[in-house]
Amino acid sequence: MKIAVLPGDGIGPEIVDEALAVLRALDLRFEFERAPVGGAAYEAAGHPLPASTLALAKAADAVLFGAVGDWKYDRLERALRPEQAILGLRKAMGLFANFRPAICYPQLTHASSLKPELVAGLDILIIRELTGDIYFGQPRGRRAAPDGHFPGAEEAFDTMRYSRPEIERIAHVAFQAARKRGNKLTSVDKSNVLETFQFWKDVVSEVHAEYPDVMLDHLYVDNAAMQLVKAPKQFDVIVTGNMFGDILSDEAAMLTGSIGMLPSASLNANNQGLYEPSHGSAPDIAGKGVANPLATILSAAMMLRYSLNQAEAATRIERAVLAVLEAGLRTADIARASDSKVGTRAMGAAVVAALAAQH
Ligand code: NAD
Repeated sequence: MKIAVLPGDGIGPEIVDEALAVLRALDLRFEFERAPVGGAAYEAAGHPLPASTLALAKAADAVLFGAVGDWKYDRLERALRPEQAILGLRKAMGLFANFRPAICYPQLTHASSLKPELVAGLDILIIRELTGDIYFGQPRGRRAAPDGHFPGAEEAFDTMRYSRPEIERIAHVAFQAARKRGNKLTSVDKSNVLETFQFWKDVVSEVHAEYPDVMLDHLYVDNAAMQLVKAPKQFDVIVTGNMFGDILSDEAAMLTGSIGMLPSASLNANNQGLYEPSHGSAPDIAGKGVANPLATILSAAMMLRYSLNQAEAATRIERAVLAVLEAGLRTADIARASDSKVGTRAMGAAVVAALAAQH
């Protein structure tokens, strides 16, 4: 199994090292190859996604990604900023399906801003379409308004669009994911106002005919945003477009209260994927050895499950993470004032030890 390892910037290298230690502790054979990405690649090669890094990622079975970005690059022209590396990888690898689980571990309900009874045991999966929608639709730009309320005035515009194949493929991914979980899928749209999302709803309903065992319902995005904070446990799998998914997945992440715990996966049609924590490079704590590595370790578990066909090893990692939480280990981001805190390396080592204890 060939893994491209792209640690990136800030806390990226620290947390990726712990995920690698956990993968190495499994009885599996991996070939890891590292390459710079983001600000680190800009420093080394003048571009956030050098051709050699992209080639390595494309040739690998999966990419384990840390995080990119630092405020010191904010003044660079957009094309050279670290974050462009993620967009470049998504585009070049055709990563159209973004999986964002939001799990609230029973030991960490105190970290949520919602009442414990609303979030204890929360386990939802948001599947966001990642390569279409208003973020990529053409035409877009600025111009003198050809019509509207203020003809001739300066205006900006974007284009929201989805083609049938784009909706069909993300719907298939979502129905299949729901089958592996609670058999319930909620499709989120804005079909009451937007043509694009009436089409989305129609196509998702058509694809549903192939998955009669999965329960499907439809929600408007405004209602979905409300339901997520009112009664989040009603959801199993949510599928939605790029922009609504961008917003709802961050809302769901916050229900768990701990961004340092949340993994993510972005997959293409061949199940090749990029796996990364949901958080950024956290420059404020980089180099201090205090970052929580669990989101990255859980991303490695997702990599085993979705790209490498090693579901059993994935479950072992997830059980090991549960065990360290159960044992009371806490990095600063998930600790209460009364908890004693551990650093990045101690947390990673504890997961490795919990894996060994499973035998
Ligand atoms: P961030 O996610 O990096 O940090 C937000 C807050 O959460 C910070 O206080 C940080 O210390 C904390 N935090 C994040 N991850 C943590 C962890 N594992 N353990 C403990 N605490 C953690 O978001 P930001 O500060 O808005 O952005 C910082 C940089 O990261 C920016 O340059 C941004 O563009 C970039 N970014 C990158 C990605 C990515 O690589 N996918 C995603 C988001 C932001």
